[in-house]
Amino acid sequence: MHLTDKDLQRFKSLLLNLKAALLEAGETGQQAEEVVELDQTRVGRLSRMDAMQAQAMSLETGRRRRQQLVKIEASLELIRAGDYGDCLECGEAINPGRLEADPTATFCIQCAEAKE
Ligand SMILES: [Zn+2]
Repeated sequence: MHLTDKDLQRFKSLLLNLKAALLEAGETGQQAEEVVELDQTRVGRLSRMDAMQAQAMSLETGRRRRQQLVKIEASLELIRAGDYGDCLECGEAINPGRLEADPTATFCIQCAEAKE
């Protein structure tokens, strides 16, 4: 553990903000999916294709959002456990700048690159 309590508090609030934003976006996304449902009963074939495409996109967005939420929860759990900021692969400290850019990062840059 190389992060100070102050750092941890800051990353924790970053994560909680991200989570709140995702949950809010999730509600809007759900509404969009419902709108597509209604459209199918009353619009022509071409716009139905558009609507289906929009729905597929909205489902894909929803999938990514849920993945991101899982990562955020995992990071919050690591903060609670006192393991946040350490690489899950090699145990080395993750560069704080990297955490700044993505507070859900759980691998150091070397391990993340090795995985690609
Ligand atoms: Zn590592």
